[in-house]
Amino acid sequence: MISVEEALDRILSRVAVLGDERVSLIESLHRVLAEDVESPRDMPPWPASSMDGYALRSADTAAAVPGAPARLRLAGRVPAGAMAERALQPGEAFRIFTGAPLPEGADAVIPQEDVTEEAGALLVPRGVGDGDFVRPRGEDMKRGDRVLERGRVLSAADIGMLATVGKSPVSVIRRPRVGILSTGDELVDLGGHIGPGQIPNSNSYSLIAQVIEAGAEPVSLGIARDRLEDIEARLRWGLACDLVMSSAGVSVGEHDFVKAALARLGAEQHLWLVDMRPGKPIAFSTIPQEGKGALALFALPGNPVSAMVTFELFVRPAILRMAGHSRLHRPTLNARALAPIKNGDPRRGYLRVTLTPDGDSYGARLTGTQSSGVLRSMVTADGLAIVPGQTTIQPGQEVKVIVLRPGL
Ligand code: AMP
Ligand code: MG
Repeated sequence: MISVEEALDRILSRVAVLGDERVSLIESLHRVLAEDVESPRDMPPWPASSMDGYALRSADTAAAVPGAPARLRLAGRVPAGAMAERALQPGEAFRIFTGAPLPEGADAVIPQEDVTEEAGALLVPRGVGDGDFVRPRGEDMKRGDRVLERGRVLSAADIGMLATVGKSPVSVIRRPRVGILSTGDELVDLGGHIGPGQIPNSNSYSLIAQVIEAGAEPVSLGIARDRLEDIEARLRWGLACDLVMSSAGVSVGEHDFVKAALARLGAEQHLWLVDMRPGKPIAFSTIPQEGKGALALFALPGNPVSAMVTFELFVRPAILRMAGHSRLHRPTLNARALAPIKNGDPRRGYLRVTLTPDGDSYGARLTGTQSSGVLRSMVTADGLAIVPGQTTIQPGQEVKVIVLRPGL
């Protein structure tokens, strides 16, 4: 049995970043940028007014005071989207609007609310500073500036930046295609009649949702019955994916054929038992693929909570690595136990807890029964408390929690 850290090492050292593809600007949101992006121009491209007001020469207003305002001739007009028709001469002011290019000869803008107009003249009651209310050329970016770097997860602001520099389509890392197979004679799929001895297939759906949450593309491989040939045939469908995961049938029971099916596909197994609860039996193997990186295969345990928790700990980081992310893990925080958090098992526990704001930190409380078949312990969970084997975290003591809820 190996540690979670050792298991992650063995997995991540065998998973490579996928190639790239070109997508339209909006489609690139939340994807990982696969190229460096430079600005083809200065922004703003010229000194621009930051107010609706009047462009002028600051020197012409040097002596102005409210009792003796500077009197400037109103001699032009620059709306946004146009250049001034001629240069501004000494003693002149041009009407100007936000975003419009400052006329040549002007060096400042005075907002309209600070001045009065009188018979074709502008009265300026105070001195205006050189550069007041002017956005200098290239204030945001200069031509040739690298504005976005390869490896970035594109945000809404980045999309605006890409539009500013005229970048569409955008080169991003390909989205991993992830095959999902459920196994078990007892499973009935959505819409089917649940007969005696049968249960609904939930793992396919929770795992599909987790794959989508991780930004990857789920491919359902359906339900395989507990027969070697069936499992093997459905895993074979998955060979076109970048990553395949199965759930259940990976213990040492007489009906557990997943490992044997993987062996028949020529998969090389890199780990099996991990020192954790829930989810001890989890296999990770790879199959070398011609012309591209190895196909990664995870055989996850069948219990609904075990499948979800092992996905979080092992499969999600592998998917994020393939998609080019550099932050592979969920954030963690130190919470204070609000009631005893007990791990009576010798293996390290990843126990489902709620998190509630508690002073400048969070309070953690178990979500009830921690049996790995109790999906409701996962439904109400905000995070996974990491508790060493045979340990009870007493009320008030700190415990490290992996935060599962994004908006927390
Ligand atoms: P196994 O690993 O095959 O022994 O399965 C462990 C437990 O998980 C059993 O109680 C199964 O019925 C349950 N289980 C397996 N697959 C699924 C699934 N797709 N959806 C819900 N429960 C499942
Ligand atoms: Mg089974």
